[in-house]
Amino acid sequence: MTKHEAKPAARALDPEAVEAFRAEMRGEVLDSASEAYDETRVIWNAMIDRRPTLIARCVNAADVSASVRFARAQGLTIAMRSGGHNVAGYAVCEGGLMIDMSLMDGVRVSPALDRAWVEGGATWAAVDRATTPFGRATPGGLISATGVAGLTLSGGIGWLRGTHGLACDNLVAADLIDAEGRLIHASETENADLLWALRGGGGNFGVVVNFEFRLHAIAPEVFFCAPIYAEERAAEILPLWRDFMTTAPDELSGLAEFSTIPADPAYPEEIWGRRVVALAHVYDGPAEEGERVTAPLRAFGPMLTDFSGAMPYATIQTLYDGIFPKGRDRCYWKSTYLRGLDDQVIADILGHLSRRPSEMTFASVWKFGGAVQRVAPDATAFGDRSMPFMFSLDAIWQGADGDEANIGWVRSAWSAMQAHSTGRMYLNFPGLGEGDTLVRDAFGAATYARLQQVKRRYDPHNVFRMNQNIVPVG
Ligand SMILES: Cc1cc2nc3c(=O)[nH]c(=O)nc-3n(C[C@H](O)[C@H](O)[C@H](O)COP(=O)(O)OP(=O)(O)OC[C@H]3O[C@@H](n4cnc5c(N)ncnc54)[C@H](O)[C@@H]3O)c2cc1C
Repeated sequence: MTKHEAKPAARALDPEAVEAFRAEMRGEVLDSASEAYDETRVIWNAMIDRRPTLIARCVNAADVSASVRFARAQGLTIAMRSGGHNVAGYAVCEGGLMIDMSLMDGVRVSPALDRAWVEGGATWAAVDRATTPFGRATPGGLISATGVAGLTLSGGIGWLRGTHGLACDNLVAADLIDAEGRLIHASETENADLLWALRGGGGNFGVVVNFEFRLHAIAPEVFFCAPIYAEERAAEILPLWRDFMTTAPDELSGLAEFSTIPADPAYPEEIWGRRVVALAHVYDGPAEEGERVTAPLRAFGPMLTDFSGAMPYATIQTLYDGIFPKGRDRCYWKSTYLRGLDDQVIADILGHLSRRPSEMTFASVWKFGGAVQRVAPDATAFGDRSMPFMFSLDAIWQGADGDEANIGWVRSAWSAMQAHSTGRMYLNFPGLGEGDTLVRDAFGAATYARLQQVKRRYDPHNVFRMNQNIVPVG
């Protein structure tokens, strides 16, 4: 529970129905007395402390179908959990049934067909481990522990976006269990409306049990560019970065990332506690070419340190994992797409960052372009792709006494930044999902209306509503 939530009255379940459900499941059904219950209900954001009545640990599509049918028959809220990284905490419900997909993490690869088939509860670590030994990759995010499902279904922004687009742009087909417990296949030729909706429309249409992704060749080592500059020089560095990125090749994807260096032996001790801006990028091509292309980013005056180097893509995918451990910190993350990054926008960003209450906080300016913008806006439910930059405010702190200051800071900075926004936001960084029109505004009226029609077809009673919710028409 967060302090904003009221606890619903616990409802008694029919013991015979529960027994029959347990007997039908091949995976385990946990209740609050089960040893694994607490460990399984914990998700990434420590602010979220909810207690499902039951947790179904599914191991196959039949388990997922049984879970959906059981929850509906018993009138239970359904939450779906894959990587558990959703910062708004949609993966776990108070009362209700949590469908835990995390045991379904198999990945099958065909380098010959350039395809990977990924089970619905896998993390990006499982995908990268299975594809990169064959010189292949598909765009994920920046952290290997993030779930494929949540990230892909609402877009998926990672290091390969300039060359290959968003994660959802590489989704070729999917199998899901719908609100009636049926197994439905979605591809360009079968239920194409559903595939369109799954490419950005979130976990609204059912529980995905299998994703099929397009794979791309990746060099054995690529170049990770990560010079770290002092934040007090950001007013000088950000315009240089913006101008450089405007003409940079599609192979280069990255972001300008603000943070405070922790007291951690992984960093030089003399910079512990310093506020910094890291220009973090990956060049999707031969490492030596990447080093040459990114050289100007490492020559914007004195650096505090530099984490750049040639390394395998799968290694880069794990570099940040240790910074973001599960269940330790309280978090409130919110994003907005920027129309541009002129000097006034930069000044406003830096003004807000100077007032951040927590030194654990991250904030980033993500560059877009390349393959993301070559996909037609109506080709996927991700909708608008016109934004050249995204600003994300990732407040992180410890202790409930910091909630008000940190959430208040993000909300106030976010509201002020609306003056520079396209009016859209990235739904994987949605605050706590609050705001009556948040989802509608993020998609825009036309895409939202089309999503409502698809929702009506596959989930007319809004059974799947622990998500960035699309309300079905009618
Ligand atoms: C540390 C961290 C780093 C991140 N980095 C990035 C990044 O680099 N790029 C980026 O784009 N995003 C990033 N995100 C945001 C991330 O994409 C979202 O939080 C996403 O929701 C996480 O997916 P998940 O499967 O782990 O989520 P979960 O919390 O497990 O699930 C979230 C929601 O996804 C849906 N869902 C989950 N599983 C299924 C399924 N099998 N079928 C249908 N729907 C399902 C449900 O609606 C569920 O409520 C990051 C988040 C964190 C915490």
